[in-house]
Amino acid sequence: MVKSSKKGGSKRAFKMYIDGKWVDSEGGETFDLTSPASGEVLGTFPKGTREDARRAVEVAVEAQDDVRSMPIQERCRLGARVAEEVRRFVKEYAVDCSLEHGKPLKESIVEVEDVIPNLLWQVEDLKRWDAPVQEGYSKPDVVYMSLHEPLGTVAVITPWNFPWVLPSEFVVQAFLAGNSVVWKPASNTPVSAVHLMESVDRAGVPPGFINMVTGPGGEVGTTLVEHPLVDGIGFTGETTTGLDIAKRAGLKKLTLELGGLGPLIIMDDAKIEPAVEDIMFGCFTNTGHCCVANERVFVHEKIHDRLIRVLTERTRKMKVGFPLDADVDMGPVNNRPTLKKIEENVSDAVDKGAKVVAGGKRIPGMPTDLYYAPTVVDGVTPEMDFNSVETFGPVAPVFEVSSLDEAIEMANAPRYGLSMAIHTSNLRVAMEAAKRLKSGQICINEPVYSWDYMNPWGGFRNSGLGRIAGRWTLDAFSEVKTVMINVGRSPWPS
Ligand code: NDP
Repeated sequence: MVKSSKKGGSKRAFKMYIDGKWVDSEGGETFDLTSPASGEVLGTFPKGTREDARRAVEVAVEAQDDVRSMPIQERCRLGARVAEEVRRFVKEYAVDCSLEHGKPLKESIVEVEDVIPNLLWQVEDLKRWDAPVQEGYSKPDVVYMSLHEPLGTVAVITPWNFPWVLPSEFVVQAFLAGNSVVWKPASNTPVSAVHLMESVDRAGVPPGFINMVTGPGGEVGTTLVEHPLVDGIGFTGETTTGLDIAKRAGLKKLTLELGGLGPLIIMDDAKIEPAVEDIMFGCFTNTGHCCVANERVFVHEKIHDRLIRVLTERTRKMKVGFPLDADVDMGPVNNRPTLKKIEENVSDAVDKGAKVVAGGKRIPGMPTDLYYAPTVVDGVTPEMDFNSVETFGPVAPVFEVSSLDEAIEMANAPRYGLSMAIHTSNLRVAMEAAKRLKSGQICINEPVYSWDYMNPWGGFRNSGLGRIAGRWTLDAFSEVKTVMINVGRSPWPS
């Protein structure tokens, strides 16, 4: 939904944030952001260049020593202030989030509100961020201390699907760990990015500590990734982009939160109603634009027909509409490339023999042509694209399985491992699955789309590198330094 423009001429003119100032791009170029929900231009943004990215890094490097030496108590105070500044404008920020993203207002409110406990949790973890002290073994006269050391300057690059929660997990928390930060938000959701930076600014975070450059990933993003004075990168986005970043970054410390193909296994002893509830939550929340979306549903053959009947009925009753209208369950798809991928995955499955039992098409008569009906596809098999290409849209692709072994093999096969789930009444079966599924998170009788502030978040295999959330983010954006002190040998009787 992003169109380049030299003139701008949109409703609101936004700026980027470098060295504590709201600035335009050095070249003056801008881009427009059009709402996927209404089709209206929401605002004009600076189209940052390589030069803008380099300038932001220079400012951040200059600020490094000041961030590092800021007492932890003061960093905690500022982190909590940012949370309070977000709290003051939850409703306004949520409306903008719905208009630029397309998610229903109630989901945007949950997302913006979620930033507050998330940051406060992080602040509490910073207060208790301990590290070992140990007496020497091969050197008995030495005591070792481990100290947390900030990386220096961290580049943060984030996607559009959760424009509040994902950036807040990285941007403010990298600062809490003692780093200066340069953030490049997604070009599809820059309004929320500006609002987060407004909160940082109002909270009184000193100039240069956290900077934000809008503009294309291929230019601003790659410049940050390759910059020799950037020490660490926090990236959330597609696996292909993550691979590109890993190739360009050299030996910078990388935290990569990448794509998933989240499977939910439903065994024959599972309860149908909660299973359907969790499928729908995992497939249709946020229009299916979730790294932890329920991308594949593996249903035991003994309950398959019953489950499909309930799932289809419930899906057909969902209300799709303009995200600010009351009682809307789902809004539009955020952007055209994602819509194309959704349509391609559905038609590939149909061409290979699967059947659309609910939805499967765009909804006519809506403000834009991005509104796609919540969809259930039955009879999906492993050779279909649903099994290898992240759909990232409101589709429940249902595979029939005959055993736990078969389901686990299919779940692990595509080599993604972010979040996986199983529904069963048998604890032994659940724990066997938990051990054999190769994934950063396993959810038992919970949706694939599950998350909490304190759990280490991150993927196995193609789903990423490293862990974030709670103290894990502090660890991700720091190094451990060992300091040894010779305290003198105590006499030991021979
Ligand atoms: P992309 O990888 O396309 O973009 C993510 C960010 O990277 C954007 O800011 C983008 O800029 C920027 N970018 C694009 N190309 C480059 C490059 N070569 N170098 C540096 N930066 C670049 O992801 P999407 O925005 O489409 O997000 C969806 C993906 O994110 C899905 O695969 C989803 O699973 C994953 N995701 C993973 C999560 C996790 O926790 N593991 C959580 C949420 C999402 P621009 O917008 O200007 O193109």
